[in-house]
Amino acid sequence: TKLRQPEIKRTKTVCTYCGVGCAFEMWTRDRHILKVQPVADAPANGISTCIKGKFAWDFVNSSKRLTTPLIRENGRFREASWDEALALVARRLLEIKAQFGADSIGFIGSSKASNEEAYLTQKIARLIIGTNSVDNSSRYCQNPATMGLQRTVGFGGDSGTIHDIEKAELIIIVGSNTSENHPVIASRIKAARKHRGQKLIVADMRKHEMAERADIHLRPKASTDLVWASALARYMFDRGYADLDFLAKHVEPGKLEEYRRSLEPFTLDFAEEMTGIPKEQLIAAGEMIGQAKSACLLWAMGITQHSHGADTSTALSNLMLVTGNYGRPGTGGYPMRGHNNVQGASDFGCLKNVYPGYEKVTDPKIREKWAKAWGVAPEALSDKIGEDNFLMVQDAEKGKVRAIYVIGEETAFSDADSKNVHEAFTKLDFMVVQDIFFSRTAEFADVVLPACPSVEKEGTFVNTERRIQRFYQVLPPLGDSRPDWRILTDLAAHMGHDWGYTHPSQIMHEVAAIAKIFAGVTYERLEGWKSLHWPVEPDGTDTPLLYTDGFHMPGGKAVLYPLTWKAPEEAADAEYDLMLDNGRMLEQFQAMNQTGRGPRVWSLSPKWFVEVSPELARERGIEDGSWLRITSRRGSIDVPAVVTDRVSGRNLFLPLHHGKPGLNKLTGEHHDPDVNTPAYKEIAVKIDVLRRQ
Ligand code: SF4
Repeated sequence: TKLRQPEIKRTKTVCTYCGVGCAFEMWTRDRHILKVQPVADAPANGISTCIKGKFAWDFVNSSKRLTTPLIRENGRFREASWDEALALVARRLLEIKAQFGADSIGFIGSSKASNEEAYLTQKIARLIIGTNSVDNSSRYCQNPATMGLQRTVGFGGDSGTIHDIEKAELIIIVGSNTSENHPVIASRIKAARKHRGQKLIVADMRKHEMAERADIHLRPKASTDLVWASALARYMFDRGYADLDFLAKHVEPGKLEEYRRSLEPFTLDFAEEMTGIPKEQLIAAGEMIGQAKSACLLWAMGITQHSHGADTSTALSNLMLVTGNYGRPGTGGYPMRGHNNVQGASDFGCLKNVYPGYEKVTDPKIREKWAKAWGVAPEALSDKIGEDNFLMVQDAEKGKVRAIYVIGEETAFSDADSKNVHEAFTKLDFMVVQDIFFSRTAEFADVVLPACPSVEKEGTFVNTERRIQRFYQVLPPLGDSRPDWRILTDLAAHMGHDWGYTHPSQIMHEVAAIAKIFAGVTYERLEGWKSLHWPVEPDGTDTPLLYTDGFHMPGGKAVLYPLTWKAPEEAADAEYDLMLDNGRMLEQFQAMNQTGRGPRVWSLSPKWFVEVSPELARERGIEDGSWLRITSRRGSIDVPAVVTDRVSGRNLFLPLHHGKPGLNKLTGEHHDPDVNTPAYKEIAVKIDVLRRQ
């Protein structure tokens, strides 16, 4: 052991999968990842991880990694030098800008890359190209939640921390399969229930593990969550549970009466009729919420991926305001962030309407500040809100967007209505894909640039609780691959902008000097296991719990936002008589580009299936293993059935990871008009039984 010990290197890193932000030591010898060792000092997770953080690292040394730039020539890819590839990208982007204008180019930033890399992505888009058309995958998951929070309390992030979730007397989980998607947070809730008697209400169509463990499981019909949430808000006023002192002190008075009037239609009888939740259950939930001294509400894509997800997110935040559940330990609204850095990609400016730190591109003073910091005249920066991922694809189809630069996103697989997306990509004049693998999206590219995963570079991520953490370089880059921050710096140089960054800390230093919410962020203050929750004051004081001194709204007052229920864009009818729900499994992540690359996780992972309720199985003669053809208005897939009471009635559930693509052959163009988030969870389908097992 003594002889071998010096060869083993231990390096702190942060998980590259979900938004919990687990940190741990990675033990390596040469390029071999020997083990992942959790340590008690890790601020978000301590000694906990899930199967992905512990074992899903085979992809790092996969023989399928991209190790050299590729250029498409006569319909085939050939290897190229970095100089040649970057010179081509620079030339084509500048030519397209000159010919069709800056807004003909769009950038899709990565939710897996670092904060510093998100910053450089939007800096190239805004400063060099001159467009605000830059976005990230939060468009497809948590943007509706962000809007719900911005309408009511201000910041588009979790209002407290994982420790607040542990402390709360009551947890309300809505449309989140927490034990599979945010396993370490789920284990904290399980422990709080066991040791402190924490109460749990789950509202979900599906009876997943947390629903089975809940004190009350509300099982609404598809797309009706706004109704029960608003009915419970009304119940709080009717039963005297509304926190009138809190409302008088902290809520905009002008809106309060309008909000109360908007609740009038939401009686318990109406809610029972619309949602299918028995009135007695609604009353039981209302009593539990009304009597709780502190409550946290967690929600995720079961709410956001609908045609009115922003409104439902707003209704959930309204409910927390009515009961005074903001600004105290153990309270608040918690949209569970999916990717490891989807929060950071948004925080650091990969959004169409804001610079880093959520500073509006339409505000002349803000634009002037950023222009000055970047050494250009204000007119050099666009004052027009750009295009988001959804619009870029729509406008590529119409020939308005001519070039798209995709960093680390599997858009050809993950975007809704994939047939339409693929057609749009083939119409582009020029497409760049920067990734660690030759993804399905790379098949449409003109230039493919090989990037490094997080373990081959340094940087910072922001987890779901707004916690900024450093990760360190564990291994050298494989082959000729490069960190994204270096690729973007080199590309800028090819376009005449010598930024000269030699380390990501210089990039963070630059952002902190401009964006107010990051003013006190430095690499020194994040050294080792230290972390900071934004906003961070210049002296380094951070903000684990938001809204203790008022809300991030004009006058410091929260807003109770009036809403009406709107029918979903797509619902079951006589022909497409079933609704297809979908989501992740514990063992896999998104398109499986990382989790699907090695035997350790793959061998433990269930193969593809669709869940069918016992009642539907009886009606259609379906058994476990029966092959079903699932057909939506867009396409069909074939998949074996699992008969289970996790789903009920005419609802099906399909894991989203499989196929080429699978789920997104079925999804459509319908989306939330407030945020352009596709309604992934609103798919009306029919089934044919192909063969019994
Ligand atoms: Fe932690 Fe999420 Fe990574 Fe699992 S996937 S180890 S819960 S950060």
